[in-house]
Amino acid sequence: MAIHLTDTQREVQALAREFAGNEIAPNAARWNEAREVPLDLLRRLGGIGLLGVVVPEEYGGSGLDATSLCLVMEEIACADAGVSVAVAAQNGLVASPLLRAGTDEQKREWLPRLATGEVFGCYALTEPDVGSDAAALRTRAVATGDGWEVTGAKQWISNGGIADLFIIFARTGGEGAHGISAFITPRAEGLVVGREIPKMGLHSSSTVEIALDGLRVPGSGLLGTEGGGLTLALATLDGGRITIAAQAVGIARAALELAVAYASERVAFGGPIARLQGVQFPIAEVAAQIDAARLLTLHAAALRDAGRPHGAAGAKAKLFASSVAVRAADVAVQTLGGYGYSAEFAAERYYRDAKITEIYEGTSEIQRVVIARSLFGDAAR
Ligand SMILES: Cc1cc2nc3c(=O)[nH]c(=O)nc-3n(C[C@H](O)[C@H](O)[C@H](O)COP(=O)(O)OP(=O)(O)OC[C@H]3O[C@@H](n4cnc5c(N)ncnc54)[C@H](O)[C@@H]3O)c2cc1C
Repeated sequence: MAIHLTDTQREVQALAREFAGNEIAPNAARWNEAREVPLDLLRRLGGIGLLGVVVPEEYGGSGLDATSLCLVMEEIACADAGVSVAVAAQNGLVASPLLRAGTDEQKREWLPRLATGEVFGCYALTEPDVGSDAAALRTRAVATGDGWEVTGAKQWISNGGIADLFIIFARTGGEGAHGISAFITPRAEGLVVGREIPKMGLHSSSTVEIALDGLRVPGSGLLGTEGGGLTLALATLDGGRITIAAQAVGIARAALELAVAYASERVAFGGPIARLQGVQFPIAEVAAQIDAARLLTLHAAALRDAGRPHGAAGAKAKLFASSVAVRAADVAVQTLGGYGYSAEFAAERYYRDAKITEIYEGTSEIQRVVIARSLFGDAAR
């Protein structure tokens, strides 16, 4: 597509494409089947700068922008969506809030290690009883004089099983949005990483429960201001959603490429099924939708890079791109017929992986809420 990218953006896109094609795609089926989180591979992503895409060079990162991160995400998700979750979490959910709200000391301590993959981080907002309605979270942090004691539970935490660093949102004040603060802590006594939650897809990604049972966090572990936690959490998701939209574009592209290749080879009724309009048209529609999804995604990223408001644009990109990923994967399964339903072909993995993009970092319903609020303001509340 004729999108204007800088030389640097094209270079990182080419780097990610080559690495994903050579090192990730050939192994994706095996990792997913074995439900293996490929830690060595993830560290190598750090080695080539892709875990710290948005981390400034002064903190050991690649010093690039949100657009670059989207380009990287598309390439990696096209090879394996599960692996791309680690890239999204490290950059979008951990480095980004640290950059936004961290003290210089916190940034110097963690960002260089996050960027190289020496340390993996995770973002723990969701709880067993609280997801979309994050302002109602129940995990509590009580002041102890020299710090905080945190008690509660977190659910569905990506990267949690491999994480050394945890960003935890907990209630330090009264009910509602302004009673929530963010904390940053290494693994410590009182923080128990629980089981890997069995999932529909993303089998090469770690997703865990976390129990917080009297976790002690020093005063220096407060991230941002006391009471500013939910604002930080939501600002983080404003950016993270753009990254997930790019992930959805990557999954959709993988599904499209598979459908085109298969339809060109599969013979029925005397020739390749690609000559049948009934096969062509769904694939053609998906091709158009993927281009549109990518444009929406890069538009939202460009707004973020320009320092302009991007909450609604990111919500539109994620809402649309995630539905395209689900549709593209469905078309791929249908195009492959019985082989589409087989666990020995990638179409069914794309089908399972695509669905998550409509759920995490805000469900599609929540994206509609965000978009509606941008249109109606207080009248939508
Ligand atoms: C694989 C995976 C990885 C994840 N990774 C992380 C992570 O790293 N960190 C983290 O903190 N969380 C993570 N999550 C959690 C994820 O963000 C939540 O699951 C998601 O936000 C939805 O919350 P919920 O599951 O509690 O659903 P609920 O909020 O209970 O929603 C249930 C249903 O009600 C709908 N609904 C809720 N409110 C509204 C509304 N106002 N209007 C219309 N419909 C509404 C929802 O759209 C949904 O369909 C992950 C989840 C999964 C499955």
